[in-house]
Amino acid sequence: MDKKMEAPTLKDPRCTNNIMGVELELDIEDRPKSRMELTYEREWDYELDQIVEAIKEKGAKTIGLQFPEGLKRRGPMIVNDLKEKLPEDVVVAISGQPCYGACDLDTHLLKRSDLFVHFGHSPMKTSEKIIYVPLYSNVEVLPIMKLALRELESPSSNPDVGLVTTTQHRNKFEEMKKFLEDEGYIVHTRRGDERLTYEGQVLGCNYASAEVDASQIMYVGGGKFHPLGLAMVHKEKRVVIADPVNNLVSIADADKFIKQRYASIHKAMSAKTWGIIYCTKIGQGRWELVEEIIEDNKNAYVITLDEITPDRLLNFKLDAFVNTGCPRISTDDGPRFKKPMLTPQEYWIATGRDPLESLAFDTFHGTW
Ligand code: SF4
Repeated sequence: MDKKMEAPTLKDPRCTNNIMGVELELDIEDRPKSRMELTYEREWDYELDQIVEAIKEKGAKTIGLQFPEGLKRRGPMIVNDLKEKLPEDVVVAISGQPCYGACDLDTHLLKRSDLFVHFGHSPMKTSEKIIYVPLYSNVEVLPIMKLALRELESPSSNPDVGLVTTTQHRNKFEEMKKFLEDEGYIVHTRRGDERLTYEGQVLGCNYASAEVDASQIMYVGGGKFHPLGLAMVHKEKRVVIADPVNNLVSIADADKFIKQRYASIHKAMSAKTWGIIYCTKIGQGRWELVEEIIEDNKNAYVITLDEITPDRLLNFKLDAFVNTGCPRISTDDGPRFKKPMLTPQEYWIATGRDPLESLAFDTFHGTW
């Protein structure tokens, strides 16, 4: 039997339902939610024709593919679909490295590839060798935005509203904006900084697009991951979540999160020895923060890591850690670590240089 006939591809009906999203879910918000009974079949456009065209144009022979965690399982099917369209001597390799953002390019595979395709995130840095395929979601955003209107102040009392979203819904951004304008709002949007590609885009580590002249922000996107960060960075703003993926409307509430951070800081206050983690991922290195700490503390040891997990730190027997890589590791995964895992800002509070009230969400700016 021809093995190729059996290999699943994305065109296979087995592969078109229940596509796993790339948004992370966090269950850390207790306010009542409004739910709409809507269901969408989520599909992604992998832009295979564009990839094949680029491969042929470059005469590329080795292709690297990188997927976010939630879509890795579809990698082999995409390889099969690509192979059908490519000459036999083209080798396609999938990165097995963990991947949570465009900050996380698999540099080893990138070096070995004539063309590298990064799926699911918008470009942080462009290169002729890299194609970014953002994977826009096909879900409709207007029904849940309509429901979310009741959480906004009315346009007659407060017409200004900020609008932000994630890469997956960026394709509907103009539609979202027009909807709010038609409802009578003045919609404020901006592109935050060079870590962000689009106007209105937010990342788990960067909310600069929400620095607009409005006291209320509508976040349109899946999950709590981004809006909670947004609520922590912009404590003065009311963040209304219109989640078209889970059909939920809620208000981002950072209080529980902030309490959790104070608890970690408190535990770390008695630490005598510290591990200061420098992340080796291409877009997560902040050496200047590491330096600042080790210059101040002779009991602080620099530890380099690509993937920061509880297991990898177990053998160090240090009292507390500071993570200078992806801020979400400290804030979202912090409770999974056996020892306190602080952000750099929190380190300075725990060691007494800065007051407790200076607690701020750790954001990441620039690229590399
Ligand atoms: S550093 Fe920013 S872009 Fe990278 S994984 Fe963390 S939140 Fe996402």
